[in-house]
Amino acid sequence: MTSIQQVLKKYFGYSEFKPGQEAIIKNTLQGRESVGIIPTGGGKSLCYQIPALLLPGISIVVSPLIALMKDQVDALNNLGIPATYISSILTPQEINRRLQLVCQNHYKLIYIAPERLTSEYFSRLAETIKISLIAIDEAHCVSQWGHDFRPSYAAIAPWIEAMPYRPVISAFTATASDRVREDIIRLLSLRNPSIHLIGFDRPNLHFTVMKGTDRKKWVEYYLKSHVEQSGIIYAATRKEVDSIYDYIKSWGIPAGRYHAGLSTEERNQSQEAFLYDDIKVMVASNAFGLGIDKSNIRYIIHHNMPRNLESYYQEAGRAGRDGEKGDCILLYSPADIQTHKFLIEQTTSSEERKAEEYQKMQAMIDYCHTTRCLRQSILEYFGEKDLPENCGNCINCTQSYESRDMTIEAQKIFSCIIRMNQQYGINLVASVLKGSQNKRIRELRLDQLSTYGIMSNMTIGAISDLINMLAAEDYIYTTAGQYPVVKLKQKSLPVLKSQARVILRMPARPEIVQEDSRLFQSLCALRREIAQKEQVPPYVIFHDLTLREMSARMPQDYDSMLAISGVGEIKMQKYGEQFMNIIRSYSLEDKSSSHMESGENAAPVKESKPTKQPQEPKQPSYLISWQMYQTGSTVSEIARQRKLTYLTVQDHILRSAREGFTVDWREIVSEEEEACILKAIQEVGSERLKPIKEMLPEEISYYAIKAVICRMELDGCTDSKDAADEFFFFKQKTAYEIVQIQGEYYVLIMYIIMSKDI
Ligand code: ADP
Ligand code: MG
Ligand code: ZN
Repeated sequence: MTSIQQVLKKYFGYSEFKPGQEAIIKNTLQGRESVGIIPTGGGKSLCYQIPALLLPGISIVVSPLIALMKDQVDALNNLGIPATYISSILTPQEINRRLQLVCQNHYKLIYIAPERLTSEYFSRLAETIKISLIAIDEAHCVSQWGHDFRPSYAAIAPWIEAMPYRPVISAFTATASDRVREDIIRLLSLRNPSIHLIGFDRPNLHFTVMKGTDRKKWVEYYLKSHVEQSGIIYAATRKEVDSIYDYIKSWGIPAGRYHAGLSTEERNQSQEAFLYDDIKVMVASNAFGLGIDKSNIRYIIHHNMPRNLESYYQEAGRAGRDGEKGDCILLYSPADIQTHKFLIEQTTSSEERKAEEYQKMQAMIDYCHTTRCLRQSILEYFGEKDLPENCGNCINCTQSYESRDMTIEAQKIFSCIIRMNQQYGINLVASVLKGSQNKRIRELRLDQLSTYGIMSNMTIGAISDLINMLAAEDYIYTTAGQYPVVKLKQKSLPVLKSQARVILRMPARPEIVQEDSRLFQSLCALRREIAQKEQVPPYVIFHDLTLREMSARMPQDYDSMLAISGVGEIKMQKYGEQFMNIIRSYSLEDKSSSHMESGENAAPVKESKPTKQPQEPKQPSYLISWQMYQTGSTVSEIARQRKLTYLTVQDHILRSAREGFTVDWREIVSEEEEACILKAIQEVGSERLKPIKEMLPEEISYYAIKAVICRMELDGCTDSKDAADEFFFFKQKTAYEIVQIQGEYYVLIMYIIMSKDI
């Protein structure tokens, strides 16, 4: 008898089995049913192809996709193994021809789609010929809990039961979850199968998560530096696929695209061209790739966060099947969460199922935020244990990180979550910590909490990131559901009691430091002076942001000074005059010096230009527009006065909003308009404006669309740095006491916060 080793070498050219293959093959040859849970690229096909060669009669492979069947059949024929497939794309004549050959025992393997099983011919097939083996590929499709549920898989078990004898059955999947595995056994009515669970690690794959990148620029950079390599870019929506495809082509890089909205012809063409290396880049929705056996894919870029880690790992796993290096990069943006929420709400009816989907999505979000080894984090999710802390082949293991003690920040966050009765989501917690003047916060009276504004030195985005990191590190968690709520976990308690510290690994990127203007520095100097006199820390006098706004707006009279956020009546009385003096003298000095320095300055003031607004080059143009807007000028008035286009002014306003300056959103976009725009974005993505605009009524402007996207980026929070004076003052005092007591100050924060309103 031919040994299976010999078959492996003879037909497939390999001298060694991959993990699990030998056991499953032997098992099958002995007539035992089996389930092979083997990661993508682990070589599942051989597990049924070799037995099919050795067993008498024919073997049937049930497979969900035509593309996949055709692929494998071509490969087998190429190896000299007689195989065929039956699918709906063939003409009835061709199907008949193939079936005749089947009856003549011409083939060793026949691939069929599950829909075909119910046809009369197939229900009687077992009476005509000897079926030795039935292999069910991508068997997770039978389970509703998998990510590729196909109702037609339900036809498999009854079909087998109806046969006059029972062939050997084996089922294969890359999905490891217990639930899916149980479903496979139950729904396929397997009889005492042996289960082969093969490690999910793919050591040759390098994992990266990128946050806050300009995705388009990044993709351009990556593709241009990897032109020789094959790769797939996955995007969340059809429209996004189309737009990425368009811009890749505009860079002169040949690419294909694939999504369910294209004609079968175009899809097949792109797939073929990609498989044969005629094009290197494939832009696709998740419809592409199931079972695709292209071994030299060097990178998988996820342009959007996938819905769950199962999909992610399966899609990413398509890189490096040949064992050579593969790059798996996920470009994360918080807006992706909205898309998935929308999809989950739209496509899932059962509440239980929804909850599960949300839970899975949360694990995906955690993955995007973890600072631990990414490989460890994925593999643990799939149930593997005792993994090394550092794999040496993911961004978190190779990028330089520094361990930072974030205990105080964590305590502030945890306390705030407690203060908010563990009833709100990440964004609202972050907004409260920031001290945002968000309407909802005022309505809910969350601005009365002792934790309101205690992290005002960070942006809402940075606070949210930190909360997500703490969730990824298991200190807190978010509940499942459309409106997830943050809650504390056991691990946070010792931190709150100052019995444990939180050390997080933060990317050691140089921080982008904004250059401080000379005026800002002078204002800081004055603040320092006053602080020393009053024996309080400087920010008790004025917050940094307040001074920054002063240096941008240069208020020189009572009213305009009072309009600066952070300056209230009391502070105005106490300090207003001194700060205005600095501003006045700066503005005089600036007027004279701008003449002297002209010619050698990077932004020279032309002789002919009247020095009407000498301070203008000192502050960003967008802030000037914002100031005017803030004092009641409309976009068109600002445009006229500043001799700018509407578009520029609109961009200025939105830029200011992004930087944390207050903007009245409702003035730009009404609630109804916003709802329409969000709907359109969910449909076509937010990458390009035009497709969004095209879906909307004429009267909705690009400005409104941009504003909604901006708000989405700010994640539903309008961040205002205004602070109510008295309250603000109190807050700062709290902070003051914290900072004064070195070494043990975190204990004190807790004391102060707790004593205030528990
Ligand atoms: P899966 O279906 O598990 O994703 P495939 O069956 O498509 O994986 O196999 C992935 C790749 O590994 C294919 O290119 C296949 O030829 C190759 N392969 C399978 N078994 C072996 C082996 N024993 N040695 C080397 N390569 C193998
Ligand atoms: Mg396969
Ligand atoms: Zn790692």
